[in-house]
Amino acid sequence: MSFTLTKLPLIRLKSFSGSGVAYTVDRSGRTCTCCQFLSEGHCKHLDEVGVYQPKQFTPRTHPTFSQALSGLVKSIRMRRVEDAIYWLMYLDGFPASEKLSKKAARLRVARRILIGSAEDGHSIPVMENVADNFRCLCKLDTPLVYLAAEIVRVCKLPNWWDPVTGGHDYIYKSLVGYRQRVLYRKVNDDQGARKLLREAIYQADRATSIGALCLLGAVGIGSTRQAQYLMTIAQELNHEKAVRLLNVHLGARTALSGDNNFTGQAAWWLAGGVSPVADKIEPVEMSEACELLERAKERWKHPLPIPNEYCDSVHCAGKDRRYAGILNDMWAVCMAFIEYGNIEPENRWLPQFFPIDGLEIEPELQSIAQEVER
Ligand SMILES: [Zn+2]
Repeated sequence: MSFTLTKLPLIRLKSFSGSGVAYTVDRSGRTCTCCQFLSEGHCKHLDEVGVYQPKQFTPRTHPTFSQALSGLVKSIRMRRVEDAIYWLMYLDGFPASEKLSKKAARLRVARRILIGSAEDGHSIPVMENVADNFRCLCKLDTPLVYLAAEIVRVCKLPNWWDPVTGGHDYIYKSLVGYRQRVLYRKVNDDQGARKLLREAIYQADRATSIGALCLLGAVGIGSTRQAQYLMTIAQELNHEKAVRLLNVHLGARTALSGDNNFTGQAAWWLAGGVSPVADKIEPVEMSEACELLERAKERWKHPLPIPNEYCDSVHCAGKDRRYAGILNDMWAVCMAFIEYGNIEPENRWLPQFFPIDGLEIEPELQSIAQEVER
């Protein structure tokens, strides 16, 4: 069955509030029967199933700091190392303002590289390497080539969207776990969330363990306390990889407050997640990083407008949400890789890249819709 040719079946999506109300979501007609849709013409239900609101955006050659930082993050995500260094150079030369000092700008860039090692990679030694250098990377007098080298190191290994990393399991389980445990929240307290997390890990239920970790955040437990709780379980289980990941998080807890990439992966490992790149690390020569900086300098002599795929409309103004790093979008990128063998933006993202797994759907209408389709 091809979703591109036939109309997608209507779904009766249950309200995220748990009120028991359900809305009719028409993915082909881009409508929903909820109040938010009626007043705003768009809603969170459509977003959840990958039907996004079209946005207007004019890309510029010299974008805002947020757009360029997004360009750096997306380039690392897509393993476009030349572009990553191109945006690194731009961010480094961004004029200081009252809102953003040079020092604060450097801190934001270094922090994004550290987060990128876990958000866009599964190698523990790579994460440890960036973390060991992190304090130094934050300092303004550290030459840019050291930051470039860490980016090159992250990009030398494949990312989660390539199934050789085991990342498809991580992203899919994260999406389903998030939907089941946070979007449709049944537990609303700290103790309940901790219990759910511990039990899920001991039962090797990866979706629930990641979902329960997100739930801890949703009930107000900060990422440091999440990491500390996971650490007690990791030590009980004598799980060396999880202990190392959590040590990275706790070692940079201030910079990583609010981030759940290291802890999320730790929860996945603890519940039995496997990544063949977990122990891999490639050497990086300083000359490689220097060469990339030289090439970026040349490119900046004739700059082109920032590509749309770097500006996601979520973290900065833009119109292409596909690489935003939000769970349903991340899974869609994995699906794009399965469909096309690459994740290039020229490809069309098909509706079936956005599954309804983990969402609460009223079965009646689903079966009626499928019957109508037959
Ligand atoms: Zn809606």
